[in-house]
Amino acid sequence: MENIIRDIEIVGLGETEIGDFKTTLEESTGKTKRLYIESYGCQMNFSDSEIVASIMKENGFDTTSDFEQADVIFLNTCSIRDKAEQTVRKRLTQFNSIKKQKPEITIGVLGCMAERLKDQLLEEEKLVDVVVGPDAYRDLPKLVMEAEEGTKGVNTFLSREETYADISPVRLNSNGITAMISIMRGCDNMCSFCVVPFTRGRERSRDPYSVVREVQQLYDFGYKEVTLLGQNVDSYKWSSEENNKARLNKNGEISDIINFANLLEMVAQVSPDLRVRFSTSHPKDITDEVLFTIKKYENICNYIHLPVQSGNSRILKMMNRTYDREWYLERVAKIREIIGEECGISSDMIAGFCSETEEEHRDTLSLMDLVKYDFSYMFYYSERPGTLAAKKYADDIPLEIKKRRLQEIIEKQNHLSLERNKKDIGKVQKVLVEGVSKRSEEQLKGRNSANKVVILPKGDLKAGDYVFVKITDCTPATLFGELVH
Ligand code: SAM
Ligand code: SF4
Repeated sequence: MENIIRDIEIVGLGETEIGDFKTTLEESTGKTKRLYIESYGCQMNFSDSEIVASIMKENGFDTTSDFEQADVIFLNTCSIRDKAEQTVRKRLTQFNSIKKQKPEITIGVLGCMAERLKDQLLEEEKLVDVVVGPDAYRDLPKLVMEAEEGTKGVNTFLSREETYADISPVRLNSNGITAMISIMRGCDNMCSFCVVPFTRGRERSRDPYSVVREVQQLYDFGYKEVTLLGQNVDSYKWSSEENNKARLNKNGEISDIINFANLLEMVAQVSPDLRVRFSTSHPKDITDEVLFTIKKYENICNYIHLPVQSGNSRILKMMNRTYDREWYLERVAKIREIIGEECGISSDMIAGFCSETEEEHRDTLSLMDLVKYDFSYMFYYSERPGTLAAKKYADDIPLEIKKRRLQEIIEKQNHLSLERNKKDIGKVQKVLVEGVSKRSEEQLKGRNSANKVVILPKGDLKAGDYVFVKITDCTPATLFGELVH
């Protein structure tokens, strides 16, 4: 059961579990104050924490990995499911004793939960001093200073333009090889189950030249892989006149538009030695132009995270995903046709959405069989206050049934992952070494182009090396291989 629960909690757009969080690494540059940040939820949040650390660094804070040493504690939170919020609430109670011993410490809640609950959080969680939403991080130093002087503060202003393009993130928890880069913020889709449009605001794209500059700097520092992040990267759209997607779409006069395929190409051209990944792709937006760009550049990885959510067209309509089962399968067929069978495809799946019948649930299972996903992030539906689904539809599938359907989806995925991984046995694949394997000091962990973890013998290799590996064995989650000389 332990494993299943952990699978359920894996969050899309990333690999972290809600029960887990990432903390800051020690960065000591002789500043007088110390900041401790915990990040929950998706990769966007981890990337945002790096921006927060950079803003605080400019204002006299080093980061610490020990919250007992900190002057300021930030929790960068997630609201995507109720469980995520409960986890943060529990964690806050654990900070009560520190606040008692050290009343001068400032505790801040950042991110989606801050945006959703606003000043209600200050009333409900007495130890919290500052509440700051995802678009207001530039205001953090001022709010922290005011809190130190005894005034609690909230800023949950959602911007139509903010992209933090000029801020060079402090790389937290970095392995020095792979880095995440936000290329856009917010989301203009209104999937009926999802709280993100309310917590992260309108969609805006970041200046592509600032993205390329950041990628170039990372490469110069020795990084070998970048992941371009956004809730819906394929809808990236920027012009020098306008970065707000809605306004850009309205103004037909603008001609110097850069779309996602253009940006992908610009980033791929930084160096053939730098791998490029991206996440997340919305099935309604991924174009053939993007697929051809992936094919054209060897360093753009053959892997697409293409969340389907459900395999049934009626449920997809209720979810307001704006595509149906046939559209989705056509996109998958195009990926296979243009990039090939080996392209990794993963998905997010929601079990037990409002009014889902057994037959409709079986449509999700049958779609999984057709696509043969390499892996998936799987959840049962959690109603979120204020969303379209919460307003329009009854959350009428009993929890036991949601859990059982989710379990069937997880079992199907395990089976498919093993089937897909077995196809890799005997093949020689290019792997980027990321570091030492958790299992043994004598083994290294890397990833192939399709984003699968590959374990290989250490030999003389080090993190950052590209190697050719012959796959010899696998589990549903991991490939094992030996070096090819
Ligand atoms: N923008 C991405 C997309 O459209 O695929 C998804 C971002 S969301 C942070 C990650 C995943 O969380 C979603 O794909 C969905 O599967 C899941 N999710 C979102 N809201 C949920 C809810 N209310 N209950 C259960 N899962 C949910
Ligand atoms: Fe949420 Fe849909 Fe936007 Fe993804 S595309 S963040 S699921 S509203």
